[in-house]
Amino acid sequence: MLFGKIALKFNPNIITKFKVNCPVIAVTATNGKTSTNNCITHTLQTAGFKVVSNKEGNNMETGIISVFVKNCSVTGKIKSDFITLEVDESYVPKIFSKFRLDTLVILDFFRDQLDRNGEVETLILKINEFLKTYNGNLVLNGDDPNVARLGKANSKNKNIYYYHAQRYEFATSEMKEAGEGKFCPFCKTRLEYEYYQYSHIGKFICPKCGYGKYDIYKEAININLKNKSFEVDGIKYNINENSIYTIYNYLAVICVMSLYHIEQDSVIKAISTFELNNGRLENIKINNVPTIINLAKNPTGANVSLRLLKEDIEVKELLFVLNDKIADGFDVSWIWDINFDLLKENNVVRIVTSGTRAYDMAIRIKTSGFDENKIEPYLDIKQAVDELYKTNIKKYVIANYTALQPTRKAILNKRGE
Ligand SMILES: [Zn+2]
Repeated sequence: MLFGKIALKFNPNIITKFKVNCPVIAVTATNGKTSTNNCITHTLQTAGFKVVSNKEGNNMETGIISVFVKNCSVTGKIKSDFITLEVDESYVPKIFSKFRLDTLVILDFFRDQLDRNGEVETLILKINEFLKTYNGNLVLNGDDPNVARLGKANSKNKNIYYYHAQRYEFATSEMKEAGEGKFCPFCKTRLEYEYYQYSHIGKFICPKCGYGKYDIYKEAININLKNKSFEVDGIKYNINENSIYTIYNYLAVICVMSLYHIEQDSVIKAISTFELNNGRLENIKINNVPTIINLAKNPTGANVSLRLLKEDIEVKELLFVLNDKIADGFDVSWIWDINFDLLKENNVVRIVTSGTRAYDMAIRIKTSGFDENKIEPYLDIKQAVDELYKTNIKKYVIANYTALQPTRKAILNKRGE
């Protein structure tokens, strides 16, 4: 980051000075940027390519410039087979109006960090404006109406690729979670859904103007969360997670690999060996107690995690850690958009809450109808983790942005105790 800050200070247009002779692939979204970009990088590397990437998740201008500075020659030449970048949604127009871009992948748009980005709609319109003159590959989640609409930004661009997933076992005909994108962006009619996979992601159509009809480039079928597998173009992919949410991200990866004709065996192998670690659907054992840790910085992220609890038939306990530090946003009202009803019908035997807003979280969960005698708030994360591991029941852990790493550390410290 420091490199980038200094470089930008000396020359605000420094990004135009790097010389690049390889494809540049960028991923943007509200949720899933880091995992998807890292999986693209991992897959290209598995196929034997040299890749320069901002794998650490520094996804704004200074972070990206830092990566370039570290990987360029004295003349500013970046020698690589591919450059893969995770880019913050609000920085896409800023960076790529000045830097080469061959493939842009857009996964989803949800409400997130409103303070910094403004309303989601404003953000989408800014990216739409940028895309009006963009003619490169555009890989879009065709099941997110907030994303698919961007395929119409430039009618002259013939390189639009939509991905779609067939209805999975737990898809619903009613929307179970708060989400955006309920109305057609073109004619404002209420969208009709054949099914919702999660939040507003699903098979939709505008009954008035037909928005939602498009040619599918890659489609996931036979989604089997129990066996952790799905199929695309007759090829079976085995994955390490049992979440519909990650299957969408893998679909984006498969689209990109297909566009660059990456050898099929490498793609299958890379996807089956890819691990979302560092607290993103991380699956670990603490003294033989299965523990699943996941980041959730907005209602959709939290709902995706709660869905995993719902879909898992085993008895379990939940730890939810909520901080309200600068990077999280001081406003934690988004927790009221989390669908805790997902827990009611389920065998969650205890919920521990922690973080600076442990009590807000406890009240929120109690309001959803969950038995208050089974809710335990602790401000101190170490104490919360100690209490959590007093039983040997399977654990699910959800933590927001600044809470994630301290929570993860406290949990890993329990090892061997
Ligand atoms: Zn419409």
